[in-house]
Amino acid sequence: MTNYSDICIVGAGIAGLTCAARLIQSAIGENLRIRVFDLNTAVGGRIRSRKIAGGEIAELGAARYSPQLHPRFQQLMQGSGLAHAVYPFTEAVFQDRMREKLKATLLSLSAMLKEHPHDSFLDFASQYLGAAQAVRIIKATGYDALLLPMVSAPMAFDIIKKHPETQDFTGNAGNEWRYATGGYGELLAQLQRQAQAAGVEFQLEHRLLSVEKSGAEHILAFHHKGDTLRHRARHLIMAIPPTAMQRLNLDFPAAWSPFQYGSLPLFKGFLSFDEAWWQALGLSDKVLMAENPLRKIYFKGDKYVLFYTDSSSASYWQDSLALGEDIYLERVRRHLEEVLPLNGQPLPPIKDHFYQHWPHGVEFCLAPEAEHPAALQHRDGIIACSDAYTSHCGWMEGSLISAHHASELLLERLSQTAEASADADADNFPTYSTERP
Ligand SMILES: Cc1cc2nc3c(=O)[nH]c(=O)nc-3n(C[C@H](O)[C@H](O)[C@H](O)COP(=O)(O)OP(=O)(O)OC[C@H]3O[C@@H](n4cnc5c(N)ncnc54)[C@H](O)[C@@H]3O)c2cc1C
Repeated sequence: MTNYSDICIVGAGIAGLTCAARLIQSAIGENLRIRVFDLNTAVGGRIRSRKIAGGEIAELGAARYSPQLHPRFQQLMQGSGLAHAVYPFTEAVFQDRMREKLKATLLSLSAMLKEHPHDSFLDFASQYLGAAQAVRIIKATGYDALLLPMVSAPMAFDIIKKHPETQDFTGNAGNEWRYATGGYGELLAQLQRQAQAAGVEFQLEHRLLSVEKSGAEHILAFHHKGDTLRHRARHLIMAIPPTAMQRLNLDFPAAWSPFQYGSLPLFKGFLSFDEAWWQALGLSDKVLMAENPLRKIYFKGDKYVLFYTDSSSASYWQDSLALGEDIYLERVRRHLEEVLPLNGQPLPPIKDHFYQHWPHGVEFCLAPEAEHPAALQHRDGIIACSDAYTSHCGWMEGSLISAHHASELLLERLSQTAEASADADADNFPTYSTERP
Protein backbone atom coordinates (compact mmCIF):
# COMPACT_ATOMS: atom_id res chain seq x y z
CA MET A 1 0.00 0.00 0.00
CA THR A 2 1.44 3.37 -0.98
CA ASN A 3 2.25 5.87 1.77
CA TYR A 4 0.67 8.75 -0.18
CA SER A 5 -2.94 10.02 -0.09
CA ASP A 6 -4.51 12.90 -1.97
CA ILE A 7 -6.75 13.40 1.05
CA CYS A 8 -5.99 12.08 4.48
CA ILE A 9 -8.69 12.15 7.19
CA VAL A 10 -7.57 11.53 10.75
CA GLY A 11 -10.39 10.30 13.00
CA ALA A 12 -13.01 7.69 12.05
CA GLY A 13 -15.83 8.90 14.28
CA ILE A 14 -19.07 10.05 12.67
CA ALA A 15 -17.38 13.30 11.58
CA GLY A 16 -14.45 11.61 9.79
CA LEU A 17 -16.71 9.04 8.15
CA THR A 18 -19.06 11.78 6.95
CA CYS A 19 -16.15 13.72 5.44
CA ALA A 20 -14.89 10.57 3.69
CA ALA A 21 -18.34 9.78 2.26
CA ARG A 22 -18.97 13.33 1.01
CA LEU A 23 -15.57 13.69 -0.57
CA ILE A 24 -15.52 10.32 -2.37
CA GLN A 25 -19.07 10.86 -3.62
CA SER A 26 -18.25 14.26 -5.13
CA ALA A 27 -17.35 14.54 -8.82
CA ILE A 28 -13.96 15.98 -7.94
CA GLY A 29 -13.20 13.48 -5.18
CA GLU A 30 -14.11 10.24 -6.91
CA ASN A 31 -10.72 9.80 -8.56
CA LEU A 32 -8.69 10.84 -5.54
CA ARG A 33 -6.95 8.51 -3.12
CA ILE A 34 -8.71 9.11 0.19
CA ARG A 35 -7.52 7.44 3.36
CA VAL A 36 -8.99 7.49 6.88
CA PHE A 37 -6.81 6.81 9.93
CA ASP A 38 -7.90 6.09 13.50
CA LEU A 39 -6.10 4.99 16.63
CA ASN A 40 -8.87 2.57 17.63
CA THR A 41 -9.41 -0.98 16.36
CA ALA A 42 -12.85 -0.03 15.00
CA VAL A 43 -14.54 3.07 13.60
CA GLY A 44 -17.09 5.04 15.66
CA GLY A 45 -15.20 7.12 18.23
CA ARG A 46 -17.70 8.26 20.86
CA ILE A 47 -20.40 6.12 19.25
CA ARG A 48 -20.01 2.59 20.56
CA SER A 49 -22.75 -0.04 20.76
CA ARG A 50 -22.48 -3.23 22.75
CA LYS A 51 -24.67 -6.28 22.29
CA ILE A 52 -25.80 -7.72 25.61
CA ALA A 53 -27.74 -10.78 26.76
CA GLY A 54 -30.97 -11.33 24.85
CA GLY A 55 -29.70 -9.41 21.81
CA GLU A 56 -30.39 -6.03 23.47
CA ILE A 57 -28.08 -3.19 22.48
CA ALA A 58 -26.45 -0.93 25.07
CA GLU A 59 -25.05 2.38 23.85
CA LEU A 60 -21.82 3.17 25.68
CA GLY A 61 -21.67 6.60 24.04
CA ALA A 62 -24.29 8.47 21.98
CA ALA A 63 -27.79 7.13 22.59
CA ARG A 64 -30.60 9.39 21.39
CA TYR A 65 -31.56 12.05 18.87
CA SER A 66 -34.44 14.38 18.26
CA PRO A 67 -35.84 14.73 14.70
CA GLN A 68 -36.75 18.36 15.48
CA LEU A 69 -33.40 19.35 17.03
CA HIS A 70 -31.16 17.10 14.91
CA PRO A 71 -32.55 17.15 11.34
CA ARG A 72 -29.27 16.10 9.66
CA PHE A 73 -28.90 13.10 11.90
CA GLN A 74 -32.56 12.21 11.42
CA GLN A 75 -32.01 12.29 7.64
CA LEU A 76 -28.93 10.06 8.00
CA MET A 77 -30.89 7.55 10.08
CA GLN A 78 -33.79 7.54 7.61
CA GLY A 79 -31.44 7.09 4.65
CA SER A 80 -29.72 4.17 6.40
CA GLY A 81 -32.91 2.11 6.54
CA LEU A 82 -31.95 1.06 10.08
CA ALA A 83 -34.67 0.45 12.64
CA HIS A 84 -35.44 3.22 15.10
CA ALA A 85 -38.02 3.72 17.80
CA VAL A 86 -39.32 6.25 20.30
CA TYR A 87 -36.72 6.92 23.00
CA PRO A 88 -38.69 6.22 26.16
CA PHE A 89 -36.84 8.29 28.74
CA THR A 90 -38.68 11.58 28.51
CA GLU A 91 -40.58 11.09 31.73
CA ALA A 92 -38.51 11.66 34.84
CA VAL A 93 -39.47 10.25 38.20
CA PHE A 94 -38.33 12.03 41.38
CA GLN A 95 -38.11 11.39 45.07
CA ASP A 96 -39.96 13.73 47.47
CA ARG A 97 -42.21 15.61 44.99
CA MET A 98 -39.10 17.22 43.56
CA ARG A 99 -40.62 17.13 40.05
CA GLU A 100 -43.30 19.73 40.87
CA LYS A 101 -40.82 21.81 42.84
CA LEU A 102 -38.25 21.77 40.04
CA LYS A 103 -40.83 22.66 37.40
CA ALA A 104 -42.31 25.52 39.44
CA THR A 105 -38.86 26.87 40.38
CA LEU A 106 -37.55 26.80 36.80
CA LEU A 107 -40.71 28.49 35.59
CA SER A 108 -40.39 31.31 38.11
CA LEU A 109 -36.65 31.71 37.46
CA SER A 110 -37.20 31.87 33.70
CA ALA A 111 -39.07 35.16 34.15
CA MET A 112 -35.84 36.74 35.51
CA LEU A 113 -33.47 35.28 32.91
CA LYS A 114 -33.30 38.40 30.73
CA GLU A 115 -31.87 40.42 33.63
CA HIS A 116 -28.96 37.98 34.05
CA PRO A 117 -27.59 37.17 30.59
CA HIS A 118 -24.02 36.63 31.82
CA ASP A 119 -24.41 35.28 35.37
CA SER A 120 -23.55 31.67 35.95
CA PHE A 121 -26.64 29.53 36.47
CA LEU A 122 -25.52 28.84 40.03
CA ASP A 123 -25.05 32.55 40.89
CA PHE A 124 -28.33 33.41 39.21
CA ALA A 125 -30.30 30.70 41.01
CA SER A 126 -28.52 31.44 44.33
CA GLN A 127 -29.67 35.08 44.21
CA TYR A 128 -33.30 33.98 44.23
CA LEU A 129 -33.18 30.68 46.12
CA GLY A 130 -30.16 30.91 48.40
CA ALA A 131 -27.01 28.92 47.69
CA ALA A 132 -28.01 25.60 49.29
CA GLN A 133 -31.42 25.42 47.60
CA ALA A 134 -29.91 26.53 44.27
CA VAL A 135 -27.43 23.64 44.38
CA ARG A 136 -30.22 21.20 45.27
CA ILE A 137 -32.46 22.41 42.43
CA ILE A 138 -29.62 22.35 39.90
CA LYS A 139 -28.52 18.86 40.94
CA ALA A 140 -32.12 17.70 40.58
CA THR A 141 -31.88 18.34 36.81
CA GLY A 142 -29.51 15.35 36.69
CA TYR A 143 -26.67 17.29 35.03
CA ASP A 144 -23.76 18.28 37.30
CA ALA A 145 -22.30 20.43 34.52
CA LEU A 146 -25.04 22.99 35.17
CA LEU A 147 -23.24 23.86 38.43
CA LEU A 148 -20.06 24.94 36.63
CA PRO A 149 -19.20 28.68 36.66
CA MET A 150 -18.87 28.70 32.85
CA VAL A 151 -22.52 27.67 32.38
CA SER A 152 -24.54 30.87 32.21
CA ALA A 153 -28.19 30.95 33.22
CA PRO A 154 -29.47 31.23 29.59
CA MET A 155 -27.18 28.35 28.56
CA ALA A 156 -28.47 26.20 31.40
CA PHE A 157 -32.08 26.80 30.35
CA ASP A 158 -31.15 25.94 26.78
CA ILE A 159 -29.49 22.70 27.90
CA ILE A 160 -32.50 21.75 30.04
CA LYS A 161 -34.83 22.40 27.09
CA LYS A 162 -32.74 20.30 24.71
CA HIS A 163 -32.35 17.10 26.71
CA PRO A 164 -35.05 14.43 26.67
CA GLU A 165 -34.94 13.80 30.42
CA THR A 166 -35.38 17.47 31.33
CA GLN A 167 -37.17 19.22 28.44
CA ASP A 168 -40.50 18.85 30.23
CA PHE A 169 -39.32 20.95 33.21
CA THR A 170 -39.34 24.09 31.10
CA GLY A 171 -42.67 23.31 29.48
CA ASN A 172 -40.85 22.35 26.28
CA ALA A 173 -41.96 18.76 25.88
CA GLY A 174 -42.66 19.28 22.16
CA ASN A 175 -39.53 17.61 20.83
CA GLU A 176 -39.70 13.93 20.00
CA TRP A 177 -36.77 11.67 20.81
CA ARG A 178 -35.72 8.48 19.05
CA TYR A 179 -32.98 5.86 19.20
CA ALA A 180 -31.56 3.18 16.89
CA THR A 181 -32.95 -0.13 18.13
CA GLY A 182 -30.07 -2.08 16.58
CA GLY A 183 -27.48 0.43 17.83
CA TYR A 184 -25.62 3.27 16.13
CA GLY A 185 -22.61 0.97 15.71
CA GLU A 186 -24.41 -0.48 12.69
CA LEU A 187 -24.96 3.01 11.24
CA LEU A 188 -21.24 3.74 11.48
CA ALA A 189 -20.34 0.32 10.03
CA GLN A 190 -22.68 1.07 7.14
CA LEU A 191 -20.98 4.44 6.52
CA GLN A 192 -17.60 2.70 6.54
CA ARG A 193 -18.74 -0.01 4.11
CA GLN A 194 -20.18 2.61 1.71
CA ALA A 195 -16.97 4.63 1.80
CA GLN A 196 -14.85 1.50 1.28
CA ALA A 197 -17.01 0.38 -1.64
CA ALA A 198 -16.44 3.79 -3.27
CA GLY A 199 -12.67 3.46 -2.81
CA VAL A 200 -11.81 5.00 0.58
CA GLU A 201 -9.08 3.06 2.40
CA PHE A 202 -9.10 2.67 6.18
CA GLN A 203 -6.06 2.33 8.42
CA LEU A 204 -7.05 1.50 11.98
CA GLU A 205 -4.77 1.22 15.02
CA HIS A 206 -2.80 4.19 13.70
CA ARG A 207 -2.28 6.94 16.27
CA LEU A 208 -1.24 10.24 14.73
CA LEU A 209 1.82 11.56 16.57
CA SER A 210 2.79 14.65 14.58
CA VAL A 211 2.33 16.54 11.32
CA GLU A 212 5.02 18.45 9.40
CA LYS A 213 4.63 20.55 6.27
CA SER A 214 6.93 19.69 3.36
CA GLY A 215 6.36 21.78 0.24
CA ALA A 216 2.78 21.24 -0.86
CA GLU A 217 2.42 18.07 1.23
CA HIS A 218 1.84 17.16 4.86
CA ILE A 219 4.02 14.45 6.39
CA LEU A 220 2.15 12.54 9.09
CA ALA A 221 3.90 10.31 11.63
CA PHE A 222 1.76 7.48 13.02
CA HIS A 223 2.37 5.00 15.79
CA HIS A 224 1.27 1.56 14.60
CA LYS A 225 1.92 -1.66 16.52
CA GLY A 226 5.25 -0.53 17.95
CA ASP A 227 6.49 1.18 14.77
CA THR A 228 6.47 4.76 13.61
CA LEU A 229 5.16 5.04 10.05
CA ARG A 230 5.23 8.10 7.81
CA HIS A 231 2.49 9.04 5.42
CA ARG A 232 2.36 11.86 2.87
CA ALA A 233 -0.86 13.68 2.11
CA ARG A 234 -1.72 16.55 -0.21
CA HIS A 235 -4.78 17.56 1.84
CA LEU A 236 -5.52 16.87 5.48
CA ILE A 237 -8.73 16.89 7.54
CA MET A 238 -8.44 16.44 11.30
CA ALA A 239 -11.76 14.91 12.43
CA ILE A 240 -10.67 14.63 16.06
CA PRO A 241 -11.94 16.67 19.01
CA PRO A 242 -10.10 19.64 20.59
CA THR A 243 -8.46 17.63 23.43
CA ALA A 244 -6.91 15.27 20.83
CA MET A 245 -5.81 18.27 18.71
CA GLN A 246 -4.04 19.75 21.74
CA ARG A 247 -1.81 16.66 22.05
CA LEU A 248 -0.34 17.19 18.57
CA ASN A 249 2.34 19.64 17.40
CA LEU A 250 -0.27 21.79 15.65
CA ASP A 251 -0.29 24.71 18.09
CA PHE A 252 -3.97 24.17 18.86
CA PRO A 253 -5.95 26.30 19.50
CA ALA A 254 -3.65 29.37 19.09
CA ALA A 255 -2.88 28.75 15.38
CA TRP A 256 -6.49 27.86 14.58
CA SER A 257 -8.99 29.91 16.49
CA PRO A 258 -9.33 32.88 18.88
CA PHE A 259 -11.31 30.65 21.28
CA GLN A 260 -10.44 28.22 24.06
CA TYR A 261 -12.00 24.78 24.43
CA GLY A 262 -12.94 22.57 27.36
CA SER A 263 -14.24 19.08 28.01
CA LEU A 264 -16.16 17.18 30.67
CA PRO A 265 -16.04 13.53 31.66
CA LEU A 266 -19.07 11.27 31.22
CA PHE A 267 -19.71 7.90 32.82
CA LYS A 268 -22.27 5.19 32.08
CA GLY A 269 -22.72 2.18 34.38
CA PHE A 270 -24.84 -0.76 33.15
CA LEU A 271 -26.28 -3.37 35.54
CA SER A 272 -28.22 -6.56 34.86
CA PHE A 273 -30.25 -8.67 37.26
CA ASP A 274 -31.86 -12.11 37.16
CA GLU A 275 -35.28 -10.49 37.19
CA ALA A 276 -36.65 -7.12 36.16
CA TRP A 277 -37.74 -6.28 39.74
CA TRP A 278 -38.17 -2.59 38.80
CA GLN A 279 -41.28 -3.46 36.77
CA ALA A 280 -43.19 -4.04 40.00
CA LEU A 281 -42.13 -0.53 41.11
CA GLY A 282 -43.58 1.00 37.93
CA LEU A 283 -40.13 2.11 36.75
CA SER A 284 -39.89 0.35 33.37
CA ASP A 285 -38.83 2.79 30.64
CA LYS A 286 -38.61 5.60 33.19
CA VAL A 287 -35.64 7.66 34.30
CA LEU A 288 -35.30 8.21 38.03
CA MET A 289 -33.51 11.40 39.08
CA ALA A 290 -31.38 10.57 42.12
CA GLU A 291 -30.09 13.01 44.73
CA ASN A 292 -26.81 11.09 44.92
CA PRO A 293 -23.94 10.33 42.51
CA LEU A 294 -26.10 7.98 40.39
CA ARG A 295 -27.88 11.15 39.16
CA LYS A 296 -29.98 9.63 36.34
CA ILE A 297 -31.05 5.98 36.56
CA TYR A 298 -32.69 4.49 33.46
CA PHE A 299 -34.74 1.29 33.64
CA LYS A 300 -34.68 -0.15 30.12
CA GLY A 301 -37.82 -2.25 29.57
CA ASP A 302 -37.22 -5.56 31.35
CA LYS A 303 -33.58 -5.66 30.19
CA TYR A 304 -31.14 -3.64 32.26
CA VAL A 305 -30.53 -0.65 34.54
CA LEU A 306 -28.20 2.15 33.51
CA PHE A 307 -26.91 5.17 35.39
CA TYR A 308 -25.49 8.07 33.41
CA THR A 309 -23.51 10.89 34.98
CA ASP A 310 -21.30 13.81 34.01
CA SER A 311 -18.62 16.04 35.57
CA SER A 312 -18.04 15.46 39.31
CA SER A 313 -20.33 12.41 39.50
CA ALA A 314 -18.55 10.84 36.49
CA SER A 315 -15.21 11.40 38.28
CA TYR A 316 -16.69 9.91 41.48
CA TRP A 317 -17.45 6.64 39.66
CA GLN A 318 -14.08 6.54 37.95
CA ASP A 319 -12.38 7.15 41.32
CA SER A 320 -14.51 4.38 42.85
CA LEU A 321 -13.31 1.96 40.18
CA ALA A 322 -9.72 2.97 40.88
CA LEU A 323 -10.31 1.73 44.46
CA GLY A 324 -11.40 -1.65 43.12
CA GLU A 325 -14.44 -3.14 41.43
CA ASP A 326 -15.83 -4.40 44.76
CA ILE A 327 -15.87 -0.89 46.17
CA TYR A 328 -17.47 0.41 42.97
CA LEU A 329 -20.24 -2.20 43.12
CA GLU A 330 -20.76 -1.68 46.83
CA ARG A 331 -21.25 2.06 46.19
CA VAL A 332 -23.60 1.40 43.28
CA ARG A 333 -25.68 -0.90 45.47
CA ARG A 334 -25.73 1.54 48.42
CA HIS A 335 -26.73 4.51 46.29
CA LEU A 336 -29.44 2.49 44.54
CA GLU A 337 -30.87 1.41 47.89
CA GLU A 338 -30.90 5.08 49.02
CA VAL A 339 -33.22 6.16 46.22
CA LEU A 340 -35.38 3.14 45.39
CA PRO A 341 -38.66 2.41 47.23
CA LEU A 342 -37.54 -1.06 48.35
CA ASN A 343 -39.44 -1.02 51.66
CA GLY A 344 -36.34 -1.91 53.62
CA GLN A 345 -35.56 -4.93 51.41
CA PRO A 346 -32.01 -5.22 50.03
CA LEU A 347 -31.40 -4.64 46.33
CA PRO A 348 -31.54 -7.97 44.42
CA PRO A 349 -28.04 -9.26 43.54
CA ILE A 350 -26.36 -7.60 40.56
CA LYS A 351 -25.85 -10.41 38.02
CA ASP A 352 -23.54 -8.67 35.63
CA HIS A 353 -22.24 -5.20 34.97
CA PHE A 354 -20.08 -3.12 32.68
CA TYR A 355 -19.33 0.56 32.39
CA GLN A 356 -17.74 3.16 30.17
CA HIS A 357 -15.85 6.20 31.38
CA TRP A 358 -15.22 8.91 28.78
CA PRO A 359 -12.56 11.29 30.18
CA HIS A 360 -13.48 13.85 27.49
CA GLY A 361 -17.04 12.73 26.78
CA VAL A 362 -18.31 16.16 25.80
CA GLU A 363 -16.13 18.82 24.22
CA PHE A 364 -17.08 22.46 23.70
CA CYS A 365 -15.94 26.00 23.03
CA LEU A 366 -15.55 28.05 26.23
CA ALA A 367 -17.29 31.01 24.59
CA PRO A 368 -20.58 29.28 23.77
CA GLU A 369 -22.38 32.37 22.57
CA ALA A 370 -19.59 33.43 20.20
CA GLU A 371 -19.91 33.26 16.41
CA HIS A 372 -17.80 30.18 15.84
CA PRO A 373 -16.92 28.80 12.40
CA ALA A 374 -18.25 25.25 12.08
CA ALA A 375 -14.85 24.03 10.82
CA LEU A 376 -11.38 25.45 11.50
CA GLN A 377 -8.47 26.08 9.12
CA HIS A 378 -4.76 26.21 9.87
CA ARG A 379 -2.43 28.49 7.89
CA ASP A 380 -0.84 25.33 6.41
CA GLY A 381 -4.19 24.44 4.88
CA ILE A 382 -5.19 21.72 7.38
CA ILE A 383 -8.93 21.66 8.11
CA ALA A 384 -10.40 20.54 11.45
CA CYS A 385 -13.94 19.47 12.31
CA SER A 386 -15.71 18.51 15.53
CA ASP A 387 -19.12 18.91 17.15
CA ALA A 388 -17.25 21.18 19.62
CA TYR A 389 -17.14 23.92 16.95
CA THR A 390 -20.92 24.11 16.63
CA SER A 391 -23.88 25.12 18.76
CA HIS A 392 -24.73 21.38 18.85
CA CYS A 393 -21.63 20.46 20.83
CA GLY A 394 -22.12 17.13 22.61
CA TRP A 395 -24.46 15.90 19.89
CA MET A 396 -23.90 13.83 16.73
CA GLU A 397 -25.75 16.59 14.86
CA GLY A 398 -22.86 18.93 15.64
CA SER A 399 -20.35 16.47 14.15
CA LEU A 400 -22.43 16.24 10.97
CA ILE A 401 -22.68 20.03 10.64
CA SER A 402 -18.95 20.45 11.16
CA ALA A 403 -18.04 17.59 8.81
CA HIS A 404 -20.23 19.10 6.07
CA HIS A 405 -18.45 22.44 6.44
CA ALA A 406 -15.02 20.81 6.45
CA SER A 407 -15.79 18.83 3.26
CA GLU A 408 -17.22 21.92 1.54
CA LEU A 409 -14.06 23.89 2.37
CA LEU A 410 -11.89 21.18 0.86
CA LEU A 411 -14.10 20.68 -2.21
CA GLU A 412 -13.99 24.43 -2.86
CA ARG A 413 -10.22 24.35 -2.62
CA LEU A 414 -10.00 21.34 -4.94
CA SER A 415 -12.24 22.94 -7.53
CA GLN A 416 -10.21 26.18 -7.42
CA THR A 417 -7.02 24.15 -7.94
CA ALA A 418 -8.67 22.25 -10.81
CA GLU A 419 -9.80 25.53 -12.44
CA ALA A 420 -6.37 27.10 -11.98
CA SER A 421 -4.62 24.14 -13.60
CA ALA A 422 -7.19 24.09 -16.43
CA ASP A 423 -6.48 27.83 -17.01
CA ALA A 424 -2.74 27.16 -16.92
CA ASP A 425 -3.14 24.33 -19.44
CA ALA A 426 -5.22 26.60 -21.66
CA ASP A 427 -2.57 29.34 -21.47
CA ASN A 428 0.18 26.89 -22.40
CA PHE A 429 -1.78 25.27 -25.19
CA PRO A 430 -0.79 26.31 -28.75
CA THR A 431 -3.81 27.91 -30.44
CA TYR A 432 -4.40 26.81 -34.00
CA SER A 433 -6.11 28.82 -36.66
CA THR A 434 -8.50 26.90 -38.86
CA GLU A 435 -7.36 29.03 -41.78
CA ARG A 436 -4.18 27.71 -43.26
CA PRO A 437 -1.69 30.26 -44.38
C1 LIG B 1 -21.45 9.06 26.99
C2 LIG B 1 -21.83 9.88 25.78
C3 LIG B 1 -23.16 10.07 25.51
C4 LIG B 1 -23.54 10.79 24.38
N1 LIG B 1 -24.87 10.90 24.09
C5 LIG B 1 -25.25 11.43 22.92
C6 LIG B 1 -26.59 11.34 22.49
O1 LIG B 1 -27.44 10.77 23.17
N2 LIG B 1 -26.92 11.88 21.28
C7 LIG B 1 -26.00 12.50 20.48
O2 LIG B 1 -26.38 12.98 19.40
N3 LIG B 1 -24.71 12.59 20.87
C8 LIG B 1 -24.30 12.05 22.04
N4 LIG B 1 -22.99 12.08 22.41
C9 LIG B 1 -22.04 12.86 21.58
C10 LIG B 1 -21.59 12.12 20.34
O3 LIG B 1 -21.12 10.84 20.68
C11 LIG B 1 -20.47 12.94 19.69
O4 LIG B 1 -20.97 14.23 19.42
C12 LIG B 1 -19.99 12.35 18.36
O5 LIG B 1 -19.93 10.95 18.40
C13 LIG B 1 -18.62 12.94 18.05
O6 LIG B 1 -18.16 12.42 16.82
P1 LIG B 1 -16.80 12.92 16.18
O7 LIG B 1 -16.55 12.09 14.99
O8 LIG B 1 -16.85 14.40 16.00
O9 LIG B 1 -15.69 12.67 17.29
P2 LIG B 1 -15.26 11.30 17.96
O10 LIG B 1 -16.40 10.36 18.01
O11 LIG B 1 -14.59 11.65 19.22
O12 LIG B 1 -14.22 10.68 16.92
C14 LIG B 1 -12.87 11.09 16.87
C15 LIG B 1 -12.02 9.91 16.44
O13 LIG B 1 -10.68 10.37 16.35
C16 LIG B 1 -9.82 9.34 16.82
N5 LIG B 1 -8.56 9.97 17.23
C17 LIG B 1 -8.36 10.89 18.21
N6 LIG B 1 -7.07 11.22 18.28
C18 LIG B 1 -6.43 10.52 17.31
C19 LIG B 1 -5.07 10.44 16.88
N7 LIG B 1 -4.09 11.16 17.46
N8 LIG B 1 -4.76 9.60 15.88
C20 LIG B 1 -5.73 8.86 15.28
N9 LIG B 1 -7.03 8.90 15.63
C21 LIG B 1 -7.38 9.72 16.64
C22 LIG B 1 -10.60 8.70 17.96
O14 LIG B 1 -10.15 7.37 18.18
C23 LIG B 1 -12.03 8.76 17.44
O15 LIG B 1 -12.40 7.55 16.79
C24 LIG B 1 -22.58 11.36 23.52
C25 LIG B 1 -21.21 11.19 23.81
C26 LIG B 1 -20.85 10.44 24.92
C27 LIG B 1 -19.40 10.21 25.20
